[in-house]
Amino acid sequence: MPKYKTEKLYYKRKSEGAQEQMSEMNSGLVFTNEQCTGCNRCISACPVMQANESVLMDGKNKILVNGDACIHCGNCMDACHHNAREYKDDTEQFFEDLKRG
Ligand code: SF4
Ligand code: SF4
Repeated sequence: MPKYKTEKLYYKRKSEGAQEQMSEMNSGLVFTNEQCTGCNRCISACPVMQANESVLMDGKNKILVNGDACIHCGNCMDACHHNAREYKDDTEQFFEDLKRG
């Protein structure tokens, strides 16, 4: 395991369990789609160290979003040249929750 936070950021997980991790980590408002090329531009643009995590999926590098750490600033969406970052519209869910109290 990596000793430092910066090492952890670039630590690549084995592909085993990566699909599961992708859906877990993509559960936040900002998420990575299948167009990710693993170019790392989003990491450079992100103000939160723990918000991006590198995983190996089918031998290819993907940078996923840690929904617990992401502050939804949108920097990665501007930085990504592959349209691989998306924003989940939660407006309907918000109003449903509001109705329920
Ligand atoms: S900038 Fe886009 S394509 Fe590049 S690693 Fe990040 S999400 Fe993937
Ligand atoms: S939305 Fe902001 S905090 Fe979240 S991953 Fe993108 S750049 Fe980082």
